[in-house]
Amino acid sequence: MSDFHGQHILITGASRGIGRACALAFARLGGRVALHYHTNRTAADETLARLEGSGHLAVAADIADGDAVERMVNDVMKAFGRIDVLVNNAGIFEEHPPLETDYAGWRSAWSRILTTNLVGAANTSYCVSRHMVAAGGGKIIMVSSRTAFRGKPEAPAYAASKAGLNALGQNLALALAPHNVHVYVVAPGVVETDMAASDKATPAWDAIRQQSPLGRVATPDDVAHTVTFLAAAGTEMLTGGIIDLNGASYLRT
Ligand code: NAD
Repeated sequence: MSDFHGQHILITGASRGIGRACALAFARLGGRVALHYHTNRTAADETLARLEGSGHLAVAADIADGDAVERMVNDVMKAFGRIDVLVNNAGIFEEHPPLETDYAGWRSAWSRILTTNLVGAANTSYCVSRHMVAAGGGKIIMVSSRTAFRGKPEAPAYAASKAGLNALGQNLALALAPHNVHVYVVAPGVVETDMAASDKATPAWDAIRQQSPLGRVATPDDVAHTVTFLAAAGTEMLTGGIIDLNGASYLRT
């Protein structure tokens, strides 16, 4: 059983969905959580109120704004004194099918999605990893996606942002391992959150569930379970790994 007593965990995009499930799981296992949110203070407060234990914190920042990310990490460091685990979870999904999107819409989708999903995680990792190295170690977990491998023709920038996140995780694993900072990537298939709400509202939902021989999509708790497993002691040799979490809905070798 993982135990995070005495550990400090920063989770981005944690006011709802997968990030919220991770926050609840880390707190249940004794960790002190810095719950990052974008603008929905009410949702952040609701999640904060549900966390077991004490000393948790909510911090706001637009993850796409590098200065705001630095301020947010400094605020967490001021309150906690250290960050043992970072979960880069914040992200956006938008459709921009190449043949149906005008050029202005295409360019803004690429810019917005890459800046949020990839550059946001890169900047947060940069700011946090300096403190981890100074403290003698830490763990960083990226929440990527099956789409990096399987593709998503109606949202190529999203798929590319997640493929980039995989490469970011692998390269940070190489750069930071000598400093006892280990980096992992989790690549879920469809997860039942607000992000999948538009799929859930269509007749295709049944077929999406049947993509997995388990006959269901993942829950946020499924993802949180793997994230806390990776963040626990004993997973050092998994550094640089990309863990599929898709119920065998997409197999790769
Ligand atoms: P969600 O929309 O509920 O959560 C996304 C979170 O990111 C929200 O809390 C949101 O506020 C935050 N966020 C978005 N833009 C931000 C910004 N500019 N600044 C700060 N925070 C911002 O969806 P979710 O399903 O919980 O997604 C969490 C992660 O899981 C995302 O990275 C997503 O790409 C990934 N993912 C989701 C699925 C799925 O099917 N739901 C599948 C694979 C991967």
